[in-house]
Amino acid sequence: MGSIQRQYEKLRKKIEKIHLENQWRAFRETRRRQKENLSSFGDLKKISEEVKRIRSESVGNWTLFEEAVSRLEKNRFKVLQARDSREACEAILKEVGDEKLVVKSKSNVSKEIGLTPFLNSHGIEVIETDIGDRIIQLAGHRASHATAPAVHLSRYEIADILSQHLRRAVAPVPEEEMEAVRSDIESYLQKAKVGITGANAISAKEGAALILHNEGNITRVRMRQKHILITAIDKIFPTIEDALLMLRLETFLATGTLFPSFIEIVAGRSKSSDIEKQLFYGMHPPEEVILVFLDNGRRQIIDAGRDFSELLHCIGCGNCLLDCPTYNAVGPFFGGDGMLGGRGVALSSLIRGVKEGVEEGLFLCTTCGLCEEVCPFHINAGKRLKDLRRRGLQDPEVARDLDEVKQLQAAIDRYGTPYERMARAAFQVARKEAPVILYIGCVGMTTESETAGSAIKLLTRLGIDFTLIDEVCCEAVKGDTGSEPNRQRIRQNIEKMKGAGGCEVLFLCPTCLKTFLEYDAEEKSGLRFDMLSAYLASHFSFTSLQSDPSMVTYHDPCHLGRGLGFYDGTRGLMRELGCRWVEMEHHHEESLCCGAGGGLRAFYPKFSRDIARRRVNEATEVNADLLLTDCLSCKHNLKQGVPIEGRLRVMTTSDYLLEGIESGRIGFLQKTDRAPIIPGRPRPENE
Ligand code: SF4
Ligand code: SF4
Repeated sequence: MGSIQRQYEKLRKKIEKIHLENQWRAFRETRRRQKENLSSFGDLKKISEEVKRIRSESVGNWTLFEEAVSRLEKNRFKVLQARDSREACEAILKEVGDEKLVVKSKSNVSKEIGLTPFLNSHGIEVIETDIGDRIIQLAGHRASHATAPAVHLSRYEIADILSQHLRRAVAPVPEEEMEAVRSDIESYLQKAKVGITGANAISAKEGAALILHNEGNITRVRMRQKHILITAIDKIFPTIEDALLMLRLETFLATGTLFPSFIEIVAGRSKSSDIEKQLFYGMHPPEEVILVFLDNGRRQIIDAGRDFSELLHCIGCGNCLLDCPTYNAVGPFFGGDGMLGGRGVALSSLIRGVKEGVEEGLFLCTTCGLCEEVCPFHINAGKRLKDLRRRGLQDPEVARDLDEVKQLQAAIDRYGTPYERMARAAFQVARKEAPVILYIGCVGMTTESETAGSAIKLLTRLGIDFTLIDEVCCEAVKGDTGSEPNRQRIRQNIEKMKGAGGCEVLFLCPTCLKTFLEYDAEEKSGLRFDMLSAYLASHFSFTSLQSDPSMVTYHDPCHLGRGLGFYDGTRGLMRELGCRWVEMEHHHEESLCCGAGGGLRAFYPKFSRDIARRRVNEATEVNADLLLTDCLSCKHNLKQGVPIEGRLRVMTTSDYLLEGIESGRIGFLQKTDRAPIIPGRPRPENE
């Protein structure tokens, strides 16, 4: 048994369905608030672009970093620099000195370095003062969101946790729970002489730390005799204005609100020159302000090049977690401490090592690309995780334990399909010379051979002159799971396509299409590659001869939509047919994954089904009777998400058209004067 199987079994025992449901409800609420406040917030795209520009000019700008350090020191901060977690923890331990109690506020960097367990192991009690953090501290859970750590818990579970801790009944009412936490932490806030906070941003020009909060606890934590701030070297901004713009964006994306209740700007100690204009310090606490800058591999990541350094442009808003299919199927176990979700796993793999990254979910990502879409800076976590999978397989120390991945890839090498010995369908299509080639793909040859058969029937019925080839696997799965696909395999396919007289190749799976298009971009084949649905939309007019009462919705396959930018083929056909149409909550660019991609279905089948179920639920929530898609793999997975008693039908566009034509409900005409629609290219203006 390899590490993936071991992790899968462990996770299945750990994950609690109710926590995922609570988390999903809370995430939806954040999205709802974002939508409600979007118009008041301003131009989200413009602000994101501006913050992106600031981040790309500041992260890794070591001159700016030195300027920040020097200005902070002039402002009487004691600035310490720690190369790694150990150094950071030890520096803080030294600063805590003989104190045995520390109050603390939310800080992802402190989670990253394991500060609380470290201080505890040295006999120091650490009390979290943020409500969510205190609750999960008492429960012994991992935070489920960077800014809302207890979103996986319901008010009832929170009431139980607090009642048990306080040994009195706490009602499951948010205000009462808040009061319970407040009274619990009050005595610690009064007693503690040391307070530890994070810092969301450091402004270099002013030498100030900015700390964002809503509860007000940070004001009190930072007013202990000693205030220790822990932050990372990638948190530098040129000016206060730049940092404030980022904080506005972070607040909006993290909570859906327009501005936090408080932003502490700490630019030194309490000072005055009210007596004879002589400057003196210490009218109010803290007496000392210490700022620890953590590197922990960041400088190396930045200096090594652009691809991975984009991970450090992150502002910790958590927007990428809200709809991430894996995060919603696995929760905070997809990530490490202080580093949640796909971006977190990628960063953690770089900092803690790829072996740890595997434990934290390197192979759990479906590579759907949704996080890139919703991230204000388009940080491409899915792509980075694929790169790191590759790195893992190239490292003998890590690869030794990746049995499941190696087996899957060996099956492709040996059998020419990830489905190993599973019988391949033999379709009754004359092998001949024809201008159109239908590329079936491994899923169509095996688990969805019936759907592939419908597509063949449809092409025949439409009178298209086509043929099949003895195809070999395009190896897209290998690319997604950390190896280079064998280009020779695609070359072989192309030679066979050309040998059969093909000019145009139609695909049933966008993943295969994308793989061929990527190959073609580097080695021109002279062939045209197209999705079957796109080809149908550009070559035929379909008319409704009899109305269909079904309410129809559409699942955008990740590789067709976000991957190739093609959203309108099937939608256009359905418009032409005058179908009763409804969009799901997530559609077009923000469509949710079906759960099949990135090797998830092979490695973690239950999570893959859970993701499919969530997608299917979206279809039933909008009262759809029919869920259409244009990918055999998506169709296969989505069907597994339909409950046994469910009435929702899952079909591909070609299934639907064939059924309509055969029943006399749909008529068709070949177009002669319309330009073809090609995935990934804009629709011609006259269309
Ligand atoms: S690519 Fe998809 S599954 Fe992977 S981290 Fe991003 S949103 Fe999550
Ligand atoms: S990766 Fe992007 S969306 Fe995710 S937390 Fe960072 S900035 Fe926000």
